[in-house]
Amino acid sequence: MNAPDPVSLTSEAPQTDAALRRVLRADLLDFTADPGFALPQEATGVRWRPDHLVLIEDGHIHAVQPADQPVPAGWQSVPQEDHGGRLLMPGFIDTHVHCPQLDVIASFGTALLDWLNTYTFPAEKRYADPEVSQQGAQRFLSALWAHGTTSAVVFPTVHKVSAQALFEAAHAQGMRLITGKVLMDRHAPDGLRDDVVQAERDCIDLIDRWHNQGRQAFAVTVRFAPTSTPAQLAMAGLLCQTYPGTYMQTHVAENQDEIRWVAELFPDARSYLDVYDRDGLLGPRAVLAHGIWLDANDRAVLRERGAQIAHCPSSNLFLGSGLFDWAQAQREGVAVSLASDVGGGTSLSMLRNMQDAYKIQAMLGNRLTAWKALHAATLGAAQALGLSHEIGQIEPGHMADLAVWDWAHGPVAEHRDRLARDSHASLHERAFVWMTLGDERNLVETLIRGQTVFQSPL
Ligand SMILES: [Zn+2]
Repeated sequence: MNAPDPVSLTSEAPQTDAALRRVLRADLLDFTADPGFALPQEATGVRWRPDHLVLIEDGHIHAVQPADQPVPAGWQSVPQEDHGGRLLMPGFIDTHVHCPQLDVIASFGTALLDWLNTYTFPAEKRYADPEVSQQGAQRFLSALWAHGTTSAVVFPTVHKVSAQALFEAAHAQGMRLITGKVLMDRHAPDGLRDDVVQAERDCIDLIDRWHNQGRQAFAVTVRFAPTSTPAQLAMAGLLCQTYPGTYMQTHVAENQDEIRWVAELFPDARSYLDVYDRDGLLGPRAVLAHGIWLDANDRAVLRERGAQIAHCPSSNLFLGSGLFDWAQAQREGVAVSLASDVGGGTSLSMLRNMQDAYKIQAMLGNRLTAWKALHAATLGAAQALGLSHEIGQIEPGHMADLAVWDWAHGPVAEHRDRLARDSHASLHERAFVWMTLGDERNLVETLIRGQTVFQSPL
């Protein structure tokens, strides 16, 4: 797979406490390679470092070492934050989520196209108001942190101000965020349509202002093929070519009615995916949500372009969209990351989405290990986004974007975890129990650039 060039790390984010040194003590879990769909006992790439220290300085991971070894000179005076017996992981990366849709999460009774018209579009209209956009962005980012997610690829609304608000809020915290104003110039209600000329101008303004500004990156954001005219899709493809460091995000092959509609609107395209490919929208920085109903030709195109599928398990189940065959995508060399797709998805918790992902694969006769799921939400996503030099691992030089977790929350999980631990079951058994029974209530603390952005009230 083609690895994109690293995004610049020059940062002008506020650094109030960035020089502060911190030392965290916990059991570290991260990945050095893709465990794939190998059985747990055969999986490689799992890195388990029990009772280790993570030394943080200037927002970065300075060193990682066993807790029983002396810390380097100059670090003795830094008090250890003792999370002994807890799990410390890289912050999760959510590769597809809609900021304004916190307003419509858990809406009853529709599939994709009705759901957009009934719930989503009315909610998104309100984001034309800068104050609504700013409050929405702050609420949304705080919610991500409260679920252990430290990086995200985000859809705002069609309004430039909604992207601006997200960039500002993420930049203020030094959070890695990828977003861009949504492009939609047809098949959307009044107040939610742009036009080609104005949309291009807004995108270029946002690129000039925000792309590679600190940890912000711009994504050319096509809502989905039906809401853009061919002229707008061509403009979007041109933006991707003109600004090669930018990302591209959209939806593809989520729902059967949607696919039939795309076929009517674009009769010349070989497939839904081809609508994007023929305008040059697919490259190593392209993130396509869902991809449930792609064929082998489409998967070959994704592999060749180095584009990734953002698999959205809870959304696919909630909207009744279908069962994404992750193992097949893996066999055919397509990069797959994990995403919440809130508000089609029912939780920002990547753990809850992993639980749904496991059940979807079970329906398809596949076995999703905790290793594969956790890798996809950390190192796997970081690599697919070309950001593995910065996020996704607990590694010296990486940003200190971390989450501390309790192994269990509540009597049932505590009982089950104790059995797994005391019976000396495999580490995978314990991790799988955690993934399957855990959620945001297990989260103890979230750090971005070494600064606490969420702390459990307990
Ligand atoms: Zn979506």
